[in-house]
Amino acid sequence: MNSRSPFDSPGVWLKGNLHTHSTESDGARDPDDVVSWYADRGYDFLAITDHRTRTIVDPPEDNSLIMLPSMELDGRDKSFGGEYHLTGIGLASLDRTESGTSLQAAVDQVKADGGLAILAHPNWLGIAPHQVFPISGLDGLEVFNVNCEQGNGKGESGQLWDHVFDAGMSLHGLAVDDAHWHGPDAGKAWVVVRSQTRTAEGVYDALATGCFYSTQGPEIHSFTVDGNVARARCSPVVDIRFVSQGKFGRRFTSENGEIEEAEFVLYGQEKYVRLVCIDREGRMAWSNPVMTAA
Ligand SMILES: [Zn+2]
Ligand SMILES: [Zn+2]
Repeated sequence: MNSRSPFDSPGVWLKGNLHTHSTESDGARDPDDVVSWYADRGYDFLAITDHRTRTIVDPPEDNSLIMLPSMELDGRDKSFGGEYHLTGIGLASLDRTESGTSLQAAVDQVKADGGLAILAHPNWLGIAPHQVFPISGLDGLEVFNVNCEQGNGKGESGQLWDHVFDAGMSLHGLAVDDAHWHGPDAGKAWVVVRSQTRTAEGVYDALATGCFYSTQGPEIHSFTVDGNVARARCSPVVDIRFVSQGKFGRRFTSENGEIEEAEFVLYGQEKYVRLVCIDREGRMAWSNPVMTAA
C-alpha cells in the first residue's frame, strides 16, 4: 500500500472538506458563499463537488483557502443494478458528466483526468462489498458522511471499509460534510492532512498517499504499529478502538473519565490495524489502516 504516516512525516497540518454542494447543483448556498463559509472557519482546503459539474471558484483574496477543482459523478451500475456516487478530487479539465451506467467507467474517467476517485457514502447507497471488489483504481471511500448520517443514520461506512480492505483493496477513508445547506450539515466532519507544503499539490499528494486522518472533532496525535504493538495517542476521548479484519482488534474504554492513549499487543493474525477514537459527545476520529507484519 502506497501510504505515508501523517504522524511522522515533515510538514504542516491542514484541515479541509472534500464534499460540498452549491447552487451549481442541489446546494442552497452559492459557490462564493460556500468558499467564504469554510474560509471564515479556518479551513485550509476545500473541494466543491457539485453533481456532474465542476464548479470553479476563485479562492479568497488572502489565499487562505486552497481550492481543489472537483465533481460528484453518479449513475446506476448495470453490473450490480444499484446506484453509485463518486467524488473526483483534483480534476484537471473534466467539466461535466452525464448520469453513467458503470462505476468502473466513472473511476476511469476521474483517473484519466488526474483526480482522486473516492466512493461516496457507500453505506447510505446500500453498496455491498462484492460490488466494490471488482473495481480498480479507487483511491478511497467516505468512511463518514454528515449529510447521510443526518438523513437516515447511515453515514458511517467502517464495516464496508473493513470488508474491502481485508480483501486486499487499499482504500483510504475520508470523513466529509456533503453539505447541501438545507440544514446544519456543514463543518461537522473533515480531513486533516500532513502536507509538505501549504499548496494544492501538497494537499493532493497527502490525500493520494493516505497521509491524513479523518474526524468529527477528536484529534489523533499519534498512531503507530511497531512490531506486534499498536500505540495510539489522541485528545481526551472515552473510547479507543484498534480495528482489524473480522473478530480481531481491541477496544479500550474509560468507566470514569477520559483516556488519551492506549496500547494493544496484536494477537498476530491481524492483516492491518486502523484506529477509531470516540469522545464524550460520540464524535469519532478515524486513522487510515496500517499494515502489520503478520
Ligand atoms: Zn452523493
Ligand atoms: Zn454529494
